[in-house]
Amino acid sequence: MKRYSAFALAREALSNHMGWERAWAAPQPKAAYDVIIIGAGGHGLATAYYLGKNFGITNVAILEKGWLGGGNTGRNTTIIRSNYLQDSSAAIYEKARSLYETLSQDLNYNAMFSPRGVMMLAQTHHEVRGYQRTAHANALQGVVTEFISPQRVKDLCPILNIDGPRYPVLGALWQARGGTGRHDAVAWGYARACSAMGMDILQNCEVKGITSANGMVTGVDTTKGYIGTKKIGIVVAGHSGQVADMAGFRLPVEAVALQALVSEPIKPCMDVVVMANTVHGYMSQSDKGEMVIGGGTDGFNNFTQRGSFHHIEETLRALIETFPIISRLKMLRQWGGIVDMTGDRSPIISKTPVGNCFINCGWGTGGFKAIPGSGWAMAELMAKGEPGPLAAEFDMWRFKEGRFIDESVAAGVAH
Ligand SMILES: Cc1cc2nc3c(=O)[nH]c(=O)nc-3n(C[C@H](O)[C@H](O)[C@H](O)COP(=O)(O)OP(=O)(O)OC[C@H]3O[C@@H](n4cnc5c(N)ncnc54)[C@H](O)[C@@H]3O)c2cc1C
Repeated sequence: MKRYSAFALAREALSNHMGWERAWAAPQPKAAYDVIIIGAGGHGLATAYYLGKNFGITNVAILEKGWLGGGNTGRNTTIIRSNYLQDSSAAIYEKARSLYETLSQDLNYNAMFSPRGVMMLAQTHHEVRGYQRTAHANALQGVVTEFISPQRVKDLCPILNIDGPRYPVLGALWQARGGTGRHDAVAWGYARACSAMGMDILQNCEVKGITSANGMVTGVDTTKGYIGTKKIGIVVAGHSGQVADMAGFRLPVEAVALQALVSEPIKPCMDVVVMANTVHGYMSQSDKGEMVIGGGTDGFNNFTQRGSFHHIEETLRALIETFPIISRLKMLRQWGGIVDMTGDRSPIISKTPVGNCFINCGWGTGGFKAIPGSGWAMAELMAKGEPGPLAAEFDMWRFKEGRFIDESVAAGVAH
């Protein structure tokens, strides 16, 4: 694979850019692979990448029922932060955030990580106490966050109205090295790197069944035929329940649609990410100038990847008091993704009741930020057959045994 560089760009400019290779190959399935990853979203692709990079396992196929990155990975609002409360969460999200810092160099693909700073507004006294507690926990975990004053909030984001009549801003939890990334580029960068290692990315290849013998997986039935394998990683977000069902076990996960919308592009007016959890909305400005606005989940289980009118109204009504300037903006697009919610709002990275079948799911409304760390931990689990320190607490049996990793404060709002 040719390296992307300024020299390559100059060279290609001389030949009308006709010499670029395809970013990833489009192979036909082989009869069998050492490892099959189901789901070519960010988490599945990152798992494959770190299997190759960290463990030298490259006889891998990544099976995707649609197009790679077409699930939640290409539908999210791209917030990256690691200011979670519990030690095991902070560890994996901080691992991911730190990998994002150098991801573009690592993948030789511009993932556009933008550490512009993330603030979570405290608009009730309860939130002040909650975020101060998180800031103290983060200090112990080595995650750099601070609780900042209303004036500092205003200085960092002048378009904010901090004196709203119902919910004045009382402070914020601020993570200066949080920010955003380019969601498609993260998927494309990992895909290109996997393809360069000789892995097969099979798009339009839906898994319809999982076969096993003597309690161990043996292969998958797909829309492109049967493919044998020794190990399977299920990494399908909102479809985890169905695919687990194919393998013969149940998961404590429910699927709901989560919605977002963007406005028409406007001049730069906001260079941080702001989340207002009390009123339930969050906003950042994209490089194109659109205001990227996140709403909530639908209040019922469903599999539609579309937006709905009442979400536009509810989300904007919630945000306008804090961001009065958006009251005159036209909204351009809205959409939805199917997220996989667990009861403690923490993920599952786990062995399963079926031998050599592993599961990575439950990232819910906030898994984009976790992609590199999740892939790192899942690859370790799949390569060694046992979880490493990053994944150790996230097994699926914690729901049976009451070992919850409660992140309802950090992840209760969609971001
Ligand atoms: C509107 C919205 C906003 C969000 N905002 C943020 C945010 O700001 N920050 C953040 O950190 N997170 C955010 N998230 C969450 C984040 O997008 C997800 O947690 C993350 O992208 C999940 O990645 P994934 O790889 O697990 O899943 P996906 O990207 O959904 O990938 C799973 C893939 O599996 C495929 N698949 C499913 N079934 C099968 C099958 N049977 N056979 C083959 N393939 C199959 C799907 O087609 C899909 O491509 C948001 C999500 C949404 C919907």
